[in-house]
Amino acid sequence: MSITEPANVNLLEFERPGSSCDRVLVAEDDAMFRRILQSWLENWGYRVTVAENGAIAWNILQQEPPPQILILDWMMPEMNGLELCRKVREQNRVPYQYILLATAKDAKQDLVRGLEAGADDYLTKPFDRSELQARLRACTRILTLQDDQIQAQEQLRFQATHDPLTGIWNRGAILETLHRELGRAARSESAVGILLLDLDHFKTVNDTHGHLAGDGVLREVTQRMIKAARAYDSVGRYGGEEFLIVLPGCSRGQIQQSGERIRSAVDSGPILVNGSEVPVTVSIGAAVAARGTTSETEMLAAADAALYRAKEIGRNRIIVSDLVFN
Ligand code: GH3
Ligand code: MG
Ligand code: MG
Ligand code: MG
Repeated sequence: MSITEPANVNLLEFERPGSSCDRVLVAEDDAMFRRILQSWLENWGYRVTVAENGAIAWNILQQEPPPQILILDWMMPEMNGLELCRKVREQNRVPYQYILLATAKDAKQDLVRGLEAGADDYLTKPFDRSELQARLRACTRILTLQDDQIQAQEQLRFQATHDPLTGIWNRGAILETLHRELGRAARSESAVGILLLDLDHFKTVNDTHGHLAGDGVLREVTQRMIKAARAYDSVGRYGGEEFLIVLPGCSRGQIQQSGERIRSAVDSGPILVNGSEVPVTVSIGAAVAARGTTSETEMLAAADAALYRAKEIGRNRIIVSDLVFN
């Protein structure tokens, strides 16, 4: 699976990114036309930015996020509307910017030139209020459609990289994070630590309190782990009741401490589910690649062996692998 680089934050919920569909840039050198357009647009609820020539408009368009609706006058000093239109299309931004070219020219060949330069629609001067409103409605239909598509894509991306029960990175995403951090560490000769965690006697929790209560315990344990981890550690669900935490820059000396902090956070008190107090502990196997020069498979095998050992000698503890990856 190929995913975009997840930030080292442990996102818990999909957040709908904001839309800038209601932001309009008016580039018009004639002060009167500019004022008329601005006042109509503001009355219709748009947030308007004005520019008195093409060069100023171009600068405004470099903002993040830029306005998505552009009303560009054809004839302007510095850079005319047609050039501006071409430059915007060259930049090929996502989301798409809708361009209305305003002009006193109404000869067929001029309109064709405008559309070829990348305009989506045109307005002829002097403006007609209801015509502009109707053209903007068409524009909004297209931008809204696009907005919905982007949201759907973002949501799919979120679902593909997150575990639905706990909201943290899923197995694929956390493994990709480990792969990426090992690469980064190898380039900068820095350390990466991992913690492989497995809840103790979790089957008993399900058997005693039911599977739903077990799910609640997994969610609460996740919260406790995230709170105890550092902001730049990535926490992922590796399997059923197993978790993997990637700790960039964590040396052999520090991993014991980090792991211990997380272990004791999980063990900070019983979890209340359906009126029952459920005690919960976790066993942890840790491994460190001192200079990133190992594979994730080797590291995971070392952490897994250490985890096995932690279970064997009594659970609710952390064992750091003796294997040294230089
Ligand atoms: P140990 O201390 O040796 O790890 O004992 P354990 O009981 O935790 O180990 P075992 O592997 O036998 O059991 C893991 C249990 O985790 C079995 C499975 O039903 C439960 N489990 C896995 N995924 C989920 C889940 O999403 N929700 C719930 N409620 N339980 C789950
Ligand atoms: Mg002009
Ligand atoms: Mg297990
Ligand atoms: Mg277990």
